Amino acid sequence: MSSASSARSGLRGRTVVVPLIPCPRCQATVRYYVSNTEDHEGWVFYRCPNHSATGCDFWFWEMEYVAYLVDAHFLVGNQAVDAVGATEERREELIRASYERRRIATQVATSRAALARPGSLQQNMSKHQESALIGLGAEILVLLKLLLGSVMLLCALCVLLLMKK
Ligand SMILES: [Zn+2]
Repeated sequence: MSSASSARSGLRGRTVVVPLIPCPRCQATVRYYVSNTEDHEGWVFYRCPNHSATGCDFWFWEMEYVAYLVDAHFLVGNQAVDAVGATEERREELIRASYERRRIATQVATSRAALARPGSLQQNMSKHQESALIGLGAEILVLLKLLLGSVMLLCALCVLLLMKK
């Protein structure tokens, strides 16, 4: 992702050159990174390579790094204008993308919560009704058996009475 002296990125037809400068604190050449944290997924940042070794704290998100470069005159003229414009646009896109991700996550969480609420879940309702129906069916079956049994008993009694006559 990075060359020896600069990081290039194309944005809407423009090629923006972001120079990789020597760290102002320890002179090591600053490096280009892409964040993969949940809050800043895809965000580009620039950091001193000695960050983990010596704890050098030279570290900027892309837009702030470009602002630093402009302030320190590493970027001038059209290059400065293009880099500032491009990184501002990219920042807006990243914020929009993370807002969209959060909105979808909230929707998913809301619908999950709705499904988890007792009584609101169609499946719970039908299962409840199903078990009620099964119970009712069993009761009807018992009644039918009793009815059949008494009819047969009556028949047997009739036959006995007829035979006695
Ligand atoms: Zn450093």
